[in-house]
Amino acid sequence: NSAAPVVTRFAPSPTGFLHLGGARTALFNWLFAKANGGKFLLRIEDTDRVRSTQPAIDAILDGMRWLGLDWDGDAVMQFAGAERHAQVAHEMVANGHAYRCYLTNEEIAAMRAEAQAAKKPLRIRSPWRDRPASDAPDLPHVVRLRAPQEGAVTIEDRVQGSVTVRNEEIDDLVLLRSDGTPTYMLAVVVDDHDMGVTHVIRGDDHLNNAFRQLPIYRAMGWPEPLYAHIPLIHGPDGAKLSKRHGAVGIEAYRDEMGILPEAFDNYLLRLGWGHGDDEIISREQAIEWFDLSGVGKSPSRFDLKKLENL
Ligand code: GLU
Repeated sequence: NSAAPVVTRFAPSPTGFLHLGGARTALFNWLFAKANGGKFLLRIEDTDRVRSTQPAIDAILDGMRWLGLDWDGDAVMQFAGAERHAQVAHEMVANGHAYRCYLTNEEIAAMRAEAQAAKKPLRIRSPWRDRPASDAPDLPHVVRLRAPQEGAVTIEDRVQGSVTVRNEEIDDLVLLRSDGTPTYMLAVVVDDHDMGVTHVIRGDDHLNNAFRQLPIYRAMGWPEPLYAHIPLIHGPDGAKLSKRHGAVGIEAYRDEMGILPEAFDNYLLRLGWGHGDDEIISREQAIEWFDLSGVGKSPSRFDLKKLENL
């Protein structure tokens, strides 16, 4: 819907520091919002209560401020919305788009063994899917999405192009765990909807998740966002970026290498987005020129030398 004002978001999980890939995702979201006169929101996805830490949250906020990536409104803390997320799952049970599943761990293990023997990925379609809700016993259960079984979903991704996945490949994902807590997959969709996010711009390690998240929008009758999945940053050797290559907190570039934020932003911008031969792009120019069609489809290579020479 081109008439809707653009709303983007950066949604880091505070389980580690803000690294290069995250900072670039934040920058692209910020630029896309600015380029379109829209809003850029920040959501801290702290639903993993064990791995989320306050120092990681502080490092993310601090890194964003250093890079000059100001967000609109207050940062949204995802875990605070757990009740709202659960309420959506209950609504989906009530309207038939989700169901209570009483499969035991043993039954799931047996399904897994069966799938392995048949050399197929485990795809859970619970027998509870087809039982009337009135059959539901008062026993521990999870809530699963009643995912479509036939047909296919095509996403017109702004970076990846047209990507199609057959529905038979997608399982009935868990929305609520047996302790009643919402899963990450549900929380992301509810929050993106409630925050009015129009463009989901994130790493392409989340592309598969988009096919699990879209059915939730459809079940709720919510407008679907546009997706742009950005290729990950690879190390100089072409392998996934690791600590050895520089997948460290971005504060290391500031504190240990003394890099200025403008230079760092410029470097991030040119990691996967190009504008002719321009080496130095000012923030004003970046806002004027930034578009998703300029984001490359193949992974960009991190080159510490280039950064050192800034
Ligand atoms: N919290 C996720 C991450 O840190 C991002 C989720 C999303 O952008 O949808 O990888």
